[in-house]
Amino acid sequence: MKSVPLIPPVCLTATYKFAKSDDLIDVVQNHSGHIYSRWDNPTVQAVEKALAQLEDYAHALAFGSGMAAITTAILALLDKDSRIVFQREIYGGTHEFLHDYLPRLGVSTSGVNYYNAEGFLAEIEKGLTILYLETPTNPTLRVVDLEPLIEAAHKKGAIVMLDSTFASPVNQHPKDYGVDVVIHSATKYLGGHHDITGGFICCEESHFNTIWRYRKILGGVMDPLTAFLALRGLQTLSLRVQRQNESAIKIAQYLEKQKNVKAVYYPGLESNPDHAIARRQMKGYGGMLSFDLDADFETTKTFMDSLKFIKLASSLGGVTSLATQPITNTHVGLSPESRAKAGISESLVRISVGVEDVDLLIQDLEQAFNVIG
Ligand SMILES: *Cc1c(COP(=O)(O)O)cnc(C)c1O
Repeated sequence: MKSVPLIPPVCLTATYKFAKSDDLIDVVQNHSGHIYSRWDNPTVQAVEKALAQLEDYAHALAFGSGMAAITTAILALLDKDSRIVFQREIYGGTHEFLHDYLPRLGVSTSGVNYYNAEGFLAEIEKGLTILYLETPTNPTLRVVDLEPLIEAAHKKGAIVMLDSTFASPVNQHPKDYGVDVVIHSATKYLGGHHDITGGFICCEESHFNTIWRYRKILGGVMDPLTAFLALRGLQTLSLRVQRQNESAIKIAQYLEKQKNVKAVYYPGLESNPDHAIARRQMKGYGGMLSFDLDADFETTKTFMDSLKFIKLASSLGGVTSLATQPITNTHVGLSPESRAKAGISESLVRISVGVEDVDLLIQDLEQAFNVIG
């Protein structure tokens, strides 16, 4: 062969054929090749290898969604006597799994607010199997100081899991903090084009086989076509995220000057309470921001409905800028008290900055501010 495809082919195959029975037996017994795509698939392995390299771990495993990655990895790493300490301000689905589903199976879980470092250390001191963290947080972009929590958890022999979706591998390098299992929803920055649902975990050799076996049995593996799109997304990840970082700070600074805006939440702003931690812990401040309008729920809705260029949609991390009112979708399930504690008001707007011309995005915000007066 004088040449091979520059881009790896999409291996849309469910199974693999063998020349001899002995080869098949070897693959089943020694995991020495492919036998069935719920176990492994070459296209899926290609994107796993690419992400593992980006995050500096020996392995990555791809899943059919971020939630499949999270639930599979947690189930793989616990026993009936396990205890999980988790940060309360995490993705809603993860919170539901840790707070409602696992206790039904007899697993003890204990949630602590991100700002309560002493509470975290006290819970960790009691002993734990897994410490589960997520930073930056959704939707107020708070930055959790990882080092002291991870150090304390490791002293207790715990496995530390971190959902790094909001930062993407470009803005945060969890390996530097000794995170054992890094999680990404590929639906967001990794895919980057709002066209796939997928997830990943990254880990070292020690946890790889356990999580791989659970993925094989629970069945939430990524499909080859999604893997192809995720691999394609990874090629522009750094370009996209750098652009999103640059635009988000400009938008945050613009918002800070608006009379209709009560507060802007973006770790890149010097006025942000987490700015010092973010500067130390992150390589870029990200493309997510939120702000409080000086307005009631109805006026905030009018503001949202007046946006033309920025789309009214859930999700984040892609090329198109999206805006949501967390109270109406991502955080609709929270009680008014929990919402107030988490700083999620009825006038809170979250924006996922895309890769469009930042002047057009600011113009769009400007005309929406003019509508509400
Ligand atoms: C979206 C998201 C998830 C869940 O990912 P899915 O791909 O929707 O299953 C988990 N964590 C964070 C931080 C997310 O933003």
